[in-house]
Amino acid sequence: MRLVLLGPPGAGKGTQAKRLSERLGIPAISTGDIFRANIKGGTPLGQLAQSYTSAGRLVPDEVTNDMVKDRLAQPDTENGFLLDGYPRNAGQVEALDALLAAVDSGLDAVVQLTADTDELVARLLNRATVEGREDDSEDVIRHRQEVYLSETAPLVDLYSARGLLVAVDGMGDIDDVTERLQAALSALEA
Ligand code: ADP
Repeated sequence: MRLVLLGPPGAGKGTQAKRLSERLGIPAISTGDIFRANIKGGTPLGQLAQSYTSAGRLVPDEVTNDMVKDRLAQPDTENGFLLDGYPRNAGQVEALDALLAAVDSGLDAVVQLTADTDELVARLLNRATVEGREDDSEDVIRHRQEVYLSETAPLVDLYSARGLLVAVDGMGDIDDVTERLQAALSALEA
């Protein structure tokens, strides 16, 4: 399956993407994780990305699109993939469309993980104390939420119009959310 996981910062995309990837036997590809790994490794990509990620802004599309293109060219994506955190705006949707069309492929579904905003800020502030992510300070969190609402949330309607959208409630127990996701995806395959 070729899947996209969509949802606001703090909705639990990363956690659920890892679990789904194991269950479905496809790689979970998180653009945020790839940026963080590059920042940690001090690579040129990391140096470029850091000024954006630390401010909660999107890394420029050319950079992100190229990075995803390289990742999707790896052989482990041949039987499918789960994209977490990409695409995040209309330009990235176009780039992904073009990339998949070039290999006569397309997405099977876009899974929207829904969550309520107050809970999200609380979760991210908590994560800040646990993981120490540089972009988990309160003002950067709020900015990331705003970027999500203005840039990424419109993709819900876009993919819905294509008949690809599956909405799953991301609130509550982590295991329950995983079960809901898996049930929603099984219903698609049936
Ligand atoms: P979040 O919890 O905010 O969804 P992510 O780990 O997905 O966090 O992303 C962290 C940061 O990495 C984002 O705020 C952004 O700066 C950058 N980033 C991740 N994915 C993308 C993308 N598709 N396009 C541009 N920037 C991205």
